[in-house]
Amino acid sequence: MMDEDDKLTFFYSGNPEEEVFKLIEKALEQREHYLVEFYNEFLIDVYMLLDKRKSRHVAIDWDNTISADKTFFKSLIFQLQDAGFKPFVCTLRAPDKENIEEICKILEKANIPIYLTNGKPKRKYMKSLGVKVHLWIDDFYPGICGDSCKILARNNIKD
Ligand SMILES: [Mg+2]
Repeated sequence: MMDEDDKLTFFYSGNPEEEVFKLIEKALEQREHYLVEFYNEFLIDVYMLLDKRKSRHVAIDWDNTISADKTFFKSLIFQLQDAGFKPFVCTLRAPDKENIEEICKILEKANIPIYLTNGKPKRKYMKSLGVKVHLWIDDFYPGICGDSCKILARNNIKD
């Protein structure tokens, strides 16, 4: 059993039939995290936003996302890989040695790419590298594409 204070509330308002969502939904249930489908910035800890339908890339934020439940996310990373998805870390942090070492140390055997955007909006940054993202998992959605972009409306986030 998880301590009540350690539980996180995840948001997802995309297509409930998406393979990636079904996988994560099951993992959240096992870990006893909460899942809501209505936008409430005061309640939600982590957002899951669908972007490109056909991509297999899953971008996972570091601070207050993976770092909020390292055990859960490490296990989720392996489950995603087993299902043929390509999870990676995408953080606004600066690409310096200490940041990379800290993240690698915690991820251990979960050997996945780490992208450090140095404060640049993540969606634009990944696009510039030619990486389209299927699902974003992040506690701070403005870091993905600012306050106004298509994926927010598509995922039923309205300010
Ligand atoms: Mg964060």
